[in-house]
Amino acid sequence: MRPARALIDLQALRHNYRLARELSGAKALAVVKADAYGHGAVRCALALETEADGFAVACIEEALELRAAGIKAPVLLLEGFFEASELSLIAEHDLWCVVHSLWQVEAIERTPVHKPLKVWLKLDSGMHRAGLSPLEYRDGYQRLLASGKVARIVLMSHFARADELDADTTAQQLAVFQAAREGLVAECSLSNSPAVLGWPQVSSDWARPGIMLYGATPFEVPQAEASRLQPVMTLQSRLISVRELPAGEPVGYGGHFTTTQASRVGVVAMGYADGYPRQAPTGTPVVVAGTRTRLIGRVSMDMLCVDLTDVPEAVVGSPVELWGKQVLASDVATQAGTIPYQIFCNLKRVPRDYAG
Ligand SMILES: *Cc1c(COP(=O)(O)O)cnc(C)c1O
Repeated sequence: MRPARALIDLQALRHNYRLARELSGAKALAVVKADAYGHGAVRCALALETEADGFAVACIEEALELRAAGIKAPVLLLEGFFEASELSLIAEHDLWCVVHSLWQVEAIERTPVHKPLKVWLKLDSGMHRAGLSPLEYRDGYQRLLASGKVARIVLMSHFARADELDADTTAQQLAVFQAAREGLVAECSLSNSPAVLGWPQVSSDWARPGIMLYGATPFEVPQAEASRLQPVMTLQSRLISVRELPAGEPVGYGGHFTTTQASRVGVVAMGYADGYPRQAPTGTPVVVAGTRTRLIGRVSMDMLCVDLTDVPEAVVGSPVELWGKQVLASDVATQAGTIPYQIFCNLKRVPRDYAG
């Protein structure tokens, strides 16, 4: 059997969820959209079920997968509905629904629903992606109440730059939110992972942690609270061959790496078809047989090469950690010019094994 695997540590997931709750001092919806950022939404939700205040997903397809697995906790649809015809399913399965646009308010007004909806009304406080503008917000709120179809409204917004610890935009967005919600008596929800970790002055009733649950930092710089996270996924494989090369020999497609000394080169069963980023350059850290070394040459579809010159104990069959508790996914992502969110979501073909 091909040795490429993603080990998912559910204890670490629970640790990170508890940290999110502790730091936010609030209820927390565990964000398990995009198949729990590649970690498996159903397994992750089941592992958190007894303690999570609820879950958040992108769309009804993802929510129904959780309901089909028997998850009864609240599930929020972060993009709400895409067509009014989804509203009856949303009511039937007791899903919570973001309303981020006036067309959705209108759709609720004109669509009959057999049970009252639970709506999270999203304000665009400055990100300018989704959300009602501050000018539309109160009117949207009043119209939802007046529609008679809404049992409860939570006020929400989303930060564009909470991962930038010295940017003043988070405080500006907070001020816009506070002005827009003035006088509206309702719970509110603001914090994503970077806000939970890095902006203790932002308080709300419901946090929405995503990436931090999976143990990866949303910051580009070291941060005290983020260092308390435990990596959940270990992407691992084994050496499938080892060769000795003299100095001056190219390795891999394009000959992008050439040995500068007599070298030992290992081949790992892992490639971009598994989701390992093709953009990861020579020098990207990798752990072989417990020793930190480096990727060399171009990542191919099913294989990649590593430098074993200083890892004499490595032989065919030696274990390789591509990321996990020794090599942080965020460090691999940085090397590849991307973010841990994307490398997790890109995971494919690799079977997932669960522990804890
Ligand atoms: C994805 C998402 C989150 C979680 O963001 P992280 O940065 O992963 O914590 C929170 N809120 C909304 C609206 C989202 O779309």
